[in-house]
Amino acid sequence: MKPKLIAIGYWYSIYEPELPNPACFEDSNWNLKEKNLVIEHLKKGKSIADWMGTSWCRYRCGESGMGASCLTDGKYIFPEKLTHYIEQHNLRLPREFVNHVTNYKSCRIFSDISKYEIDYDWWKRETGFNKKFKKRTFLAETDKEIEKFKNRL
Ligand SMILES: [Zn+2]
Repeated sequence: MKPKLIAIGYWYSIYEPELPNPACFEDSNWNLKEKNLVIEHLKKGKSIADWMGTSWCRYRCGESGMGASCLTDGKYIFPEKLTHYIEQHNLRLPREFVNHVTNYKSCRIFSDISKYEIDYDWWKRETGFNKKFKKRTFLAETDKEIEKFKNRL
């Protein structure tokens, strides 16, 4: 059996509406020490896969460097620029992941995603902790893309 990586920080889109909305994870009062620890941890992730294209910010904030890789720490797998959401849009990640970061011990990381089984179940069940959305999020990079998708159905 392949070792498992737990997906985190993959956001909903027209193609994957079952994934969480980043707005549900907004928390501008996240403990700064904890927040910085998580950001540092994510930035040290090792790239194990490249997407077909670059990612885009679900807030459509204009950030163009959203990355095209999946990074891993050996237990979790996350998008290269998950830190963008934490730093620019005040997102907080679930307690379970924060505890993992706090207690993290480095482990062997394979260089190829095909060596792993990716588990999205936990992440899909995460509902966040924020219900009062201050900013809008989007299901595609442009309205045109949403239109095109609708017409295809
Ligand atoms: Zn953004």
